[in-house]
Amino acid sequence: MDNTLLEARKDPMGRAIADYHTSGKAAKLRVLSSMFYEDEIPVATLFRSYEEMPPLEKTMLQMAHGRVLDVGAGSGCHSLVLMERGHEVVAIDISELSVQVMRSRGIEARTINFFDETFDEKFDTILMAMNGVGIVGKVERMPQFMRCVKRLLAPDGQLLLDSSDLRYIFEEEDGSFCIDLAGKYYGEVDFEMRYKGVKGATFDWLYIDFETLAYYATAAGLKCEKCAEGDHYDYVARISR
Ligand code: SAH
Repeated sequence: MDNTLLEARKDPMGRAIADYHTSGKAAKLRVLSSMFYEDEIPVATLFRSYEEMPPLEKTMLQMAHGRVLDVGAGSGCHSLVLMERGHEVVAIDISELSVQVMRSRGIEARTINFFDETFDEKFDTILMAMNGVGIVGKVERMPQFMRCVKRLLAPDGQLLLDSSDLRYIFEEEDGSFCIDLAGKYYGEVDFEMRYKGVKGATFDWLYIDFETLAYYATAAGLKCEKCAEGDHYDYVARISR
């Protein structure tokens, strides 16, 4: 059970999205992690148009059919493309600020945590773009995640997601991979965001390789196929009944 939401005073990304929506500009959205150097998310990219999206995201949007659930929708950039194409779309996000922005952009947006088991509707396509599966946080939560997917999928429904195999971070000069198999799964990352005076809590974010994803999907009685590959260990997967 997990139905926690993100209140505005602890929501750096939501603030950045709200600022950009109202003024067309935003300050620096900083991303910190114990595993990486400090980075920054250009807030304009959260408002990307179809033309500006990376190829794998375009692939996912082309594969969408029927009634769509956009999970962790942010500014709603994917929802807007799908609405223009005639899809009925419901966008969910734990960020109250982002949901407000999406509503003012004409999207049916709701403040819902994907893991909230009382959220019980059926969708033909569940979209998790920009490594949306990251919300799973840790591999040990994959069975719970698959239960939620099964609850929300219509009989002929599909989940579309993009993720990356982070093994390249552990690649040695000779091309071998130095991964501590006794340690935590190598795609489990911790992040923290900051925007202006707003400091978010540290959160777990999961990048999952295709084989591990397929293992958990199959264990839950679902099918999992790789639909496209990017040029840097990234891929699109489709999960269905
Ligand atoms: N999909 C958007 C935004 C990605 S950022 C894009 O591609 O631009 C990830 C989003 O997921 C954030 O807006 C965050 O608030 C939301 N989120 C995080 N955990 C969530 C959860 N458990 N349920 C729903 N949304 C969640």
